[in-house]
Amino acid sequence: MSRVSAVSTFPVAYPEPNDNNNQRYLLFVRLETDDGLTGWGEAITQFPAATRAAQAMVEGMAEIVVGSDPLDNVAIWRRLKDATWWYSYRGGAAAFALSAIDVALWDLKGKILGQPLAVLLGGAQRDRVPAVASTHAFNSSLEYEAERHGRYVRDEGYIGVKIGMGKRGDARLGYDVRRDIDFVALLREAVGPEALIMMDRGQSLVWDLDAAIRRVSAFEQHGLKWIEEPFEPQDVNAFHKLRAHVTTMIAAGEREWDARGFAEVIATGVVDVIGCDVGRAEGITGTLAVIAQVEQANLWFNSHAWSSAVNTAASIALSASTSRCMFQELKPDENPMQHELVETPFAQTAGWIEVPRGPGLGVEPLEHVLRKYAWR
Ligand SMILES: [Mg+2]
Repeated sequence: MSRVSAVSTFPVAYPEPNDNNNQRYLLFVRLETDDGLTGWGEAITQFPAATRAAQAMVEGMAEIVVGSDPLDNVAIWRRLKDATWWYSYRGGAAAFALSAIDVALWDLKGKILGQPLAVLLGGAQRDRVPAVASTHAFNSSLEYEAERHGRYVRDEGYIGVKIGMGKRGDARLGYDVRRDIDFVALLREAVGPEALIMMDRGQSLVWDLDAAIRRVSAFEQHGLKWIEEPFEPQDVNAFHKLRAHVTTMIAAGEREWDARGFAEVIATGVVDVIGCDVGRAEGITGTLAVIAQVEQANLWFNSHAWSSAVNTAASIALSASTSRCMFQELKPDENPMQHELVETPFAQTAGWIEVPRGPGLGVEPLEHVLRKYAWR
């Protein structure tokens, strides 16, 4: 029987080319067993303080994890959740820590059993998932940004694009209704008639209801697939009012932490696509509980996988496990945490990404890359 013998943390800071080279932060967790196996997990902490806090949480949780059998992964998940009753009620930094440890336990379980995560989840619905290029606009020229995204579809084969507005750089999308509408018109021309277009309001933008309705109604004319987080999550009334004016699907949920938070989002009845990050929403175990709710409500699951290859590996297996998932988002431009971190980076071919087949997550982070980007 394998027993976890050590828990190690690897905080990293790295430039993200898909976010105008903005510095981002992640926390990796490595579990070792007494018979020489290693399992990897990651939390999408994004910010320095969150990374530090999650690291401290993992170090505190280690005493529960060390000595345990990774095959008992869900029982360990429950023990960790119970132990954080006071400081992780409904989420927070401990949920990041729980997420990373949970992913690493599933990775170990797969390695012990010699099975990929997709099999551990009960079998995939499909062996590959459609791929969408998910990135942020940064250039001041609308023509430049439309053409850049057009190339992801025309030249690289992605089935569509999801574009973050209000992000770093000079694009300034999301600020001027008329200009945003012009951009989506240019984008439709560039990507062609069939490609999916999703637009994601950035958290830094504040859209009033009238402007949001005007945007989404006009985007609809160009075949918008969904509008993501048009308002802050708590502004449920605005979601209801937008819903009354447009037919486009609405996506939200990525800031939730746990099954109950997602249940509340679903209960609003105004969200069609539930965004969920395995590196935040209590890991693979937590995300499975979200997928079950999404399926029950006949909504759509979308994994918010915008961090490392560890997160992407888990996310693809989860996406493939349900028929209520349209595609997998991938960052289209080469970046450190996807393309340097692992020997064989994830890549789509003709719009498809394969479900990993190796034991556990099917990817092995290179420790010299974690050292190169180490944040101390
Ligand atoms: Mg989003």
